[in-house]
Amino acid sequence: MEIRILGCYGGELPGYRVCSFAVDGKLLLDAGSVTSVLRLSEQRRISSILVTHTHLDHIKDIPFLVANLVAEGFHEPVNIISTGWVIEGIKFHLFNGALWPDFTVLPTAESPVLKFTSIEPGADFSVQDFTIRAIPVNHTVPAVGYIIRQGRSAILYTGDTGPTERIWEEANKLRGLKAVIVESSFPNRLRAMAESSGHMTPILLKRELKKLNRKDIPILLTHMKPQYLGLLRKEVRSIGQFQISFLRQGERYRF
Ligand SMILES: [Zn+2]
Ligand SMILES: [Zn+2]
Repeated sequence: MEIRILGCYGGELPGYRVCSFAVDGKLLLDAGSVTSVLRLSEQRRISSILVTHTHLDHIKDIPFLVANLVAEGFHEPVNIISTGWVIEGIKFHLFNGALWPDFTVLPTAESPVLKFTSIEPGADFSVQDFTIRAIPVNHTVPAVGYIIRQGRSAILYTGDTGPTERIWEEANKLRGLKAVIVESSFPNRLRAMAESSGHMTPILLKRELKKLNRKDIPILLTHMKPQYLGLLRKEVRSIGQFQISFLRQGERYRF
């Protein structure tokens, strides 16, 4: 599978976009930065979006995406997939007729541009040619990471999380794991803020990676606060042992 990095930062500054990854051009992992990156013809190809949690930096372009598509004709509704809590939160707080129109009944209730699918954490779910599984992680709101499998390849994306257990246990059981995308938001000196907001620092990340049995696969970092990028680069270097690199915005990775 090909993963194109539309945005990979934990904050927005000129040149630094919040998180969204396009898998094979048709499945999005989170939707922080979509409509400012993809051309309209590319936006038309998006048929499903896996959302990790309700925070705005992970969902903020869903409203603009569906508004583009509804105006211009579409074949299938865009399917927002996540756990029940996340789906209910997006419906209630965002597509509520106040912040944005309820696109699950637009342009018509029979043929809407947007639909929602709730999935059970821990259970496999098929979407297009992918098998996905949501795994609960540890954030300030109910949040999940995802395992995405296609054929014999699998990747793991933690989404936003502080120290956590289950996703690493799942990773250790997985066959065909090709890469782990894990967050690293704050530098070590902001550890208190990281802990209270459910995020990682390089020291916390080092401890997390000890839970992963695989030392031979790429560990790709995401959700860095852009203003601390220089410091994060320095601090991550001291983790050693793993093949760690920072995701690069605009880059395409193949697994
Ligand atoms: Zn968050
Ligand atoms: Zn976030």
